[in-house]
Amino acid sequence: MVDYRSMWSDLDLDLEKHDILLQVLPNMYESIFLSQENRPVAMDYFDFAVAEIHGQRVRELMDHKAGGGKVVGLYCVFVPEDLIMAAGAIPVGLCAGTQFSIPDAEQVLPRNTCALIKSSFGFKVGRTCPYVQASDFLIGETTCDGKKKMYELLAEHHPTHVMEVPQKKTPLGRRLFLEELQALKTKLETETGAAITAETLAQATAVIDAKRSALRRLHNIRKACPTLISGLDALLVTQVSFYDDPVRFTEKVNALCEELEGRVAPAKGVAPANAPRILVSGSPMALPNWKLHQILEGSGAVVVGEESCTGTRYFNNLTPESDGTLAGQLEAIAARQLETHCACFTPNDERIEDIITLARDWAVDGVVHYNLQFCHTFANEAVKVEKALAVEDIPLLRIETDYGDEDTGQLRTRVEAFLEMIQR
Ligand code: SF4
Ligand code: SF4
Repeated sequence: MVDYRSMWSDLDLDLEKHDILLQVLPNMYESIFLSQENRPVAMDYFDFAVAEIHGQRVRELMDHKAGGGKVVGLYCVFVPEDLIMAAGAIPVGLCAGTQFSIPDAEQVLPRNTCALIKSSFGFKVGRTCPYVQASDFLIGETTCDGKKKMYELLAEHHPTHVMEVPQKKTPLGRRLFLEELQALKTKLETETGAAITAETLAQATAVIDAKRSALRRLHNIRKACPTLISGLDALLVTQVSFYDDPVRFTEKVNALCEELEGRVAPAKGVAPANAPRILVSGSPMALPNWKLHQILEGSGAVVVGEESCTGTRYFNNLTPESDGTLAGQLEAIAARQLETHCACFTPNDERIEDIITLARDWAVDGVVHYNLQFCHTFANEAVKVEKALAVEDIPLLRIETDYGDEDTGQLRTRVEAFLEMIQR
């Protein structure tokens, strides 16, 4: 066992509180993940990546910093990782999915704020996340109101750069976003002292496209019936993608896909062929938020896709061809990022089309719309989702919840009733 305490202490973590967090995770992980039957062997790597989440990967970041490199934290898939990497910095996704950090946040933020915002903020003010502590600066975005106001408070605790994300994908909105990317490029160059060139950006984009392609490959494998990988494992892989080394991660996802492709012919599934197939759609599920998947799969369903920023919204879009110049590549990255169909946009009908396409192509029996409490954008958009799915005759269950356990029993009852209704 490597001892990381001195590293955590150097990062100014609250060691006492951090110890409590580390005690909770292994038991929770074991009961949710390691107890699954017929798991692919290649999941070993992702188990390791989670076991070492505050250890080896943080050590890699610290080694990078010791060599003069920078680490940049981000909270949304609209922030392009490749632009950060092109400046020689390492991007890490910081969105948080645990109740653990929420009491610290609630000492500052209003309670009726979405759990994802509170959990992320709580990790900073409680000094319990080594990734935030290791970040030289953070990048926020003006996606939803709760987040953008939280970033103002976060900036009191950690250097924070906020980039504007437009609300509409009009020519004006697209120009604004491109200018924001140019401003971010300048910020990154100032912070790192490295010039972003056409070459460094092309290399970084190739790495990110390869990562997204591997995740798309895994997503496509989930079309198989019986299902070859549980929704819990597939979600975990996407969650790990936000902090792991992208080249190593891509190799490991491709190795997982090879193993799973070898299971197609013997039809070696992780659930019976008649298990209800569910698409989860809605708010992101940041690590370690496994609550809904655990309830669904614990009730006999299998989750075959996530229309989410911890799912298709993150990896669906590859970078379009550009003329190879720096300006052209930035335009291509802007176009790629704006293909993210987040509820913060108006209108956002493409998301509804995505849900219907996923439901058809992945042969789902029902959609579960997942809404974090107090997330008004996804809650309001759910009204349109419900109408559109009713027209298509696709059963829908709307869930609104947070990271706490209080409603687990009630959610399970609702999920079981829904599964009984759609049972094949
Ligand atoms: S849901 Fe919207 S705001 Fe949240 S991570 Fe996704 S794109 Fe960003
Ligand atoms: S889940 Fe909703 S309220 Fe929470 S950060 Fe994302 S868009 Fe904002």
